[in-house]
Amino acid sequence: MPIPTEPVGSLPRPAKLQAAIKDYDDGKITFEQLSREQDAAAEDSIKRGEATGEPIISDGEQRISSFATYPLADTLAGAGLGENLAGDGQFFAIFDDGHHRQLPRLTKGPFRYKQYAVEFLEKARKMTSLPLKQAVIAPSMLMLLYPLDGELPGYSREQFHSDLIDEAEKDIRKCFAAGAQRVSVDFTEGRLALKNDPRNPWTGRNMLQTFVDLNNRLFARFTPAERVNIGMHTCPGGDCDSVHSAEVDYADMLPSLFNMNAGYFLIQLASEKDKERIYKIIGENIRRDAKGVKQVAFIGVINPLTPRVETPQEVADDLILAAKYIPKDQLGSTDDCGFSPFSIDVKPKHGSPDVARDVAFEKIKSRVDGTKMASQTLGIS
Ligand SMILES: [Zn+2]
Repeated sequence: MPIPTEPVGSLPRPAKLQAAIKDYDDGKITFEQLSREQDAAAEDSIKRGEATGEPIISDGEQRISSFATYPLADTLAGAGLGENLAGDGQFFAIFDDGHHRQLPRLTKGPFRYKQYAVEFLEKARKMTSLPLKQAVIAPSMLMLLYPLDGELPGYSREQFHSDLIDEAEKDIRKCFAAGAQRVSVDFTEGRLALKNDPRNPWTGRNMLQTFVDLNNRLFARFTPAERVNIGMHTCPGGDCDSVHSAEVDYADMLPSLFNMNAGYFLIQLASEKDKERIYKIIGENIRRDAKGVKQVAFIGVINPLTPRVETPQEVADDLILAAKYIPKDQLGSTDDCGFSPFSIDVKPKHGSPDVARDVAFEKIKSRVDGTKMASQTLGIS
């Protein structure tokens, strides 16, 4: 089998769709009218994804508010917020350009998803015959919905965690039942957990091990055969062409990442300063037997935050160098992050979200072509 390649999931929403989301938030159009724009954007994403030659695609997450909030609300402004949630939760992240993203707050139990990722996957399934992947959010992100200190009356932290794992398991199982070939779990909060940003209290609470333990409770619900196709994505954030935790050294984080019993990992790497050092750390920490599954590291070979399109040769060179440290049968390629994890994203370094979409498909094609070149050079076919 040649070196596998897989996207993280999101694509910039077209300017027209972002305008429709605003009109919906302002009460100027109905949800049905918004849905028509989502349908058009998802169909365009899938058709253009097919044209890149990518072996597995997604709908570009065109219908969701964000990678983290799709189970909680319909839009980032909070339309359709789920039961027992208020809009004023803690910061999820403060990005290097100064903007921030905020989570809702759980006000009381029980915690339930208002919708599952399968709802978007089922619509995508009707639009393509190619294998589909679906990204879902990690329990470790949603645990931040619960107050950092103290307990909610009548709904203990442990009860919340237990409900959260049930919901996250359901989220993944529904995707597989509806035909997803792969499901990856977004874990951008992992690296941020080591940042210790005084403006954002949870990042100073040494929560990485808590995150790992909670996510492993989720992975324990699945057999090794199932976990082969359940991944985890790590990155330093990627929103409005900015990041939140690139200064955190991967050396402090990657050993914990591979302690999670996922089958594969989608790892931001193209934008790292010293990639070879990180390949080496991956090679030292990736497991051949993570409770019955051989882990595979999909290294980032594309930077979605810059408009310069990587060449296939650059992609191939990265993979060939990585293969010096990571066993060939545990190596794959991916993009550093989704191209727009949040629905409202003007992609400032690109000039507009529509330009960024065009660039994204060119970048994906480079990843696909460069990964094929590396497979041939490395004699993997
Ligand atoms: Zn990411």
